[in-house]
Amino acid sequence: MPTIAVTGGKGGTGKSTVAVNLAFALAKQGYGVDLLDLDIECPNDSRLSGIQVNPVSSVYKSVPVINDKCTGCGVCVQACEPKALYMLNEKVNLIEDICTGCMLCQKVCPFNAIDTGQKKVGTVSVGEVRVGSGKVTLIEGRLEVGEDESTKIIAEALKYSNSKVKIIDTAAGTHCTVVKALKKADHAFIVTEPTPFGISDSMKVVELVKKLGVGYDLVLNRDMGNDVSLPVKPKFRIPYSRALVNSYISGRPIVLQDSPEARVFGEMAEHARSILLGD
Ligand code: SF4
Ligand code: SF4
Repeated sequence: MPTIAVTGGKGGTGKSTVAVNLAFALAKQGYGVDLLDLDIECPNDSRLSGIQVNPVSSVYKSVPVINDKCTGCGVCVQACEPKALYMLNEKVNLIEDICTGCMLCQKVCPFNAIDTGQKKVGTVSVGEVRVGSGKVTLIEGRLEVGEDESTKIIAEALKYSNSKVKIIDTAAGTHCTVVKALKKADHAFIVTEPTPFGISDSMKVVELVKKLGVGYDLVLNRDMGNDVSLPVKPKFRIPYSRALVNSYISGRPIVLQDSPEARVFGEMAEHARSILLGD
């Protein structure tokens, strides 16, 4: 199904504000919208949208559990590439945060001394709200601190997405979590701000989406009306406004308010609709 990703070069550019308001603007037009918060290290769409989410699924990784058949031979310690195992007083110890869950140690153990345990690495939570004749379903992926299991969390979150219209709020930057989310998208809105760092980082995302073959539009947030030199012409300009800041703080999307700032999100929703649904 067609999907739009809202992404950005760095944190704090307003990416989540755009994702939330776009989802609500589409819902106001009568659509059922899945808003997937896949900024899994720091999901905050729940706070920005006021949608209360509840856990529906926990995600686990396998971890080795040494049993009493262990002889202390050290074969597993040698085999573990990320050095998650170490010997202390002739006993094998595990650093869980480093362990990738590959279970190679179990395969190489000559004494069948490693059982399979599980460690929670993340949670998927879901909540929804009716907006006019439409609905926004917020699906939030959240990674446990120190873990690196983005693929599993993203895959689990996607299982809960059934609506025809999907908006993915990705992490910021060009790292692998962003790539994994962008690979699910047909089109990206790249949010930037009128600062040298903001522009430079967003151009890296432009290069990334081009490489991935994903269509894109640039969204300039906090536009002060200055003459900003951008290598790519923004399709949308969101003016800097106190009302938008207040909506951010209060957790009530600006598109639900009778405000001129809501207009640009309405235009964005029209554009998204033509891309997603061809109407
Ligand atoms: S390979 Fe097996 S027996 Fe040898 S130290 Fe590791 S767990 Fe113990
Ligand atoms: S599961 Fe893989 S990473 Fe974890 S301790 Fe075993 S070999 Fe090392």
